[in-house]
Order: sequence, then C-alpha cells, then structure tokens
Amino acid sequence: MSESPYPMISPEEAFQRVIATVQALAPVRVPLDEALGHVLAAEVRARENMPPFRSSSMDGYAVIAADTLAEREVLGEQDAGHVHAPRVRPGTAVRIMTGAALPEGADAVIPVEYASEDTGRVRFSRPFPAGANIRPVGQDLAAGELILSPGLVLGAAEVGLLATLGQAEVEVHPRPRVAIMATGDELVPLGQAPGPGQIRDSNSHALAAFVRQVGGVPVVLGIIHDDEDILRRAILDGLSRADMLVSSGGVSMGRRDLIKPILEALGTIHFGRLAQKPGKPTTFATVQGKPFFGLPGFPVSSLVSAELYVRPALRKMAGFAALRRLEITVRLAHDIRHEPDRMEFQRAVVTWQNGQALARNTGDQVSGRLLSLVGANALLRLPQGVADLNAGDEVSALLTSAPEV
Ligand code: AMP
Ligand code: MG
Repeated sequence: MSESPYPMISPEEAFQRVIATVQALAPVRVPLDEALGHVLAAEVRARENMPPFRSSSMDGYAVIAADTLAEREVLGEQDAGHVHAPRVRPGTAVRIMTGAALPEGADAVIPVEYASEDTGRVRFSRPFPAGANIRPVGQDLAAGELILSPGLVLGAAEVGLLATLGQAEVEVHPRPRVAIMATGDELVPLGQAPGPGQIRDSNSHALAAFVRQVGGVPVVLGIIHDDEDILRRAILDGLSRADMLVSSGGVSMGRRDLIKPILEALGTIHFGRLAQKPGKPTTFATVQGKPFFGLPGFPVSSLVSAELYVRPALRKMAGFAALRRLEITVRLAHDIRHEPDRMEFQRAVVTWQNGQALARNTGDQVSGRLLSLVGANALLRLPQGVADLNAGDEVSALLTSAPEV
C-alpha cells in the first residue's frame, strides 16, 4: 500500500496554518446601502452634533418652565421640519410636535396629555422643570466623537448611524471573490442527464451557496476534467479572476488525483493530510500569493472541510477578527459509534432542553450522504483516541447556527 507523502496534522494545527497564511483584503469604498455585513476598515467620527438643534421629544407645548401663570396664550405652532414659530415670552406657549426645533425663549415642553386648550388659551395640570422633554444638541452624537471603530461588522444600526452622519460611502474590506471548480471525469452539469458511470456535479452548487453564506462572492468555474494540462490552466485562470480558489475532488491517492502534484509545481502546499474524518485529504496551498483549498470530492467531506478551513480563511480576508464558531459542551441523546484513529466531526442537531444542550446526530455519517448535513446546526467534535460514546456522555460541539426556538 502506498503512503501519502504529506505528514498527518491535527485539525487545530491546520486551522492555525490557514489563518497564519491568509491576510485581510485591502479596503475599498462601497455605497452605504451595499455595506451591510462588511467589516469596517477605517474609524468613523461624528462630523456634527445629533440632534443638531434643540428639539422636542414629545407632542405638547413649548413654554418657559419658570412661568407660573395657570393659563397661557397660544402664539402658534412649531411643526417638525419648520422654524416659523414666534418667540415664547412669559405668559405664552407654542404648540410643538415631536422632532420640531424648540422656539426661541422656551426651555421646556409640557406634553399634550397635561394640557387643555380652548380658543387660543392653554391650561396645564402640572408644571415641568426646565429642560423637560427637550433633546439637547449632541445628545445622541457629539461632533468629533469616535462613533465606529475598524473591525466592526456593519449591521442595520451601523448603517443607520452612517446615514445619520451623511456618509454615502464607507470604507470596508471587500467580500472575497472565491473561484469554485469541480474536478472529475464522472461529473455532468445540472440539466444534463448523467450517462453510464456519471453523476451530477453537486459540489459546485453547494460550495457556491456556502461561499455566499459566509459573505463571499462565488465565481463558478464549472466542471474540470481530470487532465493535468486542463486542470493547471483552470487553476491559473480561476486565480486570475478571484482572491481564493476552492476545488473539490482529485486530492486522494487515486491515479487521476492530480491536484496535489499540480500545486507542488505551481506553488506551496501547507498541508495535504489531516487527522480528521471526514476530510482527511483536504489540501491547502498558496499559488501566486493566493490561497487554494483542495477539498475532497465526497459532498459531505467538501462541505465539512469548507466549514472548518475555508470559512475562517474567508472571514479573515473579509476583515473579521472572530474566526471561530462558538464551541459548547453538549450531552449526547444516544449512543454514537466512533473510531478512535482520528478526530471525527459528526453532523448533529443541538436543542436546548431543561437548561441543557442536547445533541442527536443526523443518522448515517458516511461521506457521500449529504442528508447528514440537512437540518444540522452543529458539528460534534469527537476526539482522537476515544472510541464509541454513550448516551449521556458530554462532547464538544461547534455550533454552525444558533438554535431558534
Ligand atoms: P474524489 O475526491 O475525486 O476521489 O471523489 C470522491 C467522491 O466524490 C467520488 O465518488 C466522486 O464521484 C464524488 N464527487 C467528486 N466531485 C463531486 C461533485 N462535484 N459533486 C458530487 N460528487 C462528487
Ligand atoms: Mg475525482
């Protein structure tokens, strides 16, 4: 039996090599409405105060707080967006709407709930102190204040803040472009009926969806045949069009598994064999300064390795500081068969029951069975050196999505 020349390394060592190798992509400016989900690349300071003028936080009457008259003359009205109301003098009030600028002279707003107005005169049921129901200048944001720091992930609130500050564009790390290729002479594209010995290429579609899920932009190269020249040209073409290349298939020990020798000639292989199941032949290299992931062809192996290694690489390139999934301790709901020779990542559903995380695997865990990933929200990390596990045992689980209830 021939042995792989690549030293077997642990999943943790592989993760470390990946994140030590890839770098964040250089910042770009994007329109604000395309910034959602990007990582901010420059600090943002408030250029002006918010609110920019003293405004009312209630519908009511702008008054002088120290005024003691039971009844006051209503001089007019101040609507949001208008500044036409006359100056408030002792013995008078101005009707005011939420968000409207406080008229000159006034120093408090009495809510409409405490007022009764009749024929141009208003009475109040109680006094309010100076400053009541007024939003002072700069209450939300002070001019010059540091608002957002580099590394922050832009969500709805951050987009809202940038709009508040008038920033139509924002400096962010771009979404990495990921070239995806499926290798294998047995593959046919979707829409073509498979002939004898042929199957449909599912990995191109699954990996493109995965890349999108992680925030990257897939560039699908399609099916590439197991031919050295064709593969080499496809790899170079893919890398010229993307920041990273992800292939599936062709990394095992078969005679037509050509990816590793091609990578040896074109670049540097950082690892080519992992002490894990599924995904043992997962290969990571640098070619022309860009990361290359050679994932195994089995559909589950390729997605599990993508989760474990492509995802952190993609996130680091996109500027994220947090690169790992939350890992928690879960209790097994049933016995699980596990070989002790290498670490195994079993697909599982984690639920929250009676204050405890409970895990059930997704049935048969063979590497071709994509159904084992369907509905899964966790990968159970079953350690090397430990054999079968029993119901009630505690194991570590990487949460790939938070359980919704
Ligand atoms: P390989 O890693 O090339 O030896 O392929 C391992 C297994 O995965 C084989 O059974 C292939 O037919 C299957 N496979 C490879 N690529 C794909 C793909 N793109 N879509 C679905 N199955 C694939
Ligand atoms: Mg193959």
